[in-house]
Amino acid sequence: MSTEPCGICEATVPYSDTVHVTIHTKSDAGVVDGYVCRSCYEAHLQEYFED
Ligand SMILES: [Zn+2]
Repeated sequence: MSTEPCGICEATVPYSDTVHVTIHTKSDAGVVDGYVCRSCYEAHLQEYFED
């Protein structure tokens, strides 16, 4: 089973429990992306993307 390191808490989580985050910075950094675990997504990111 493949795993990914969470970009926030650095836990190694199963791929199926990750959330793929892509951010278009509109700056020299361009597009940055990575994976976070679902609990970090719900704790830190979800609120920003809800309607
Ligand atoms: Zn995490």
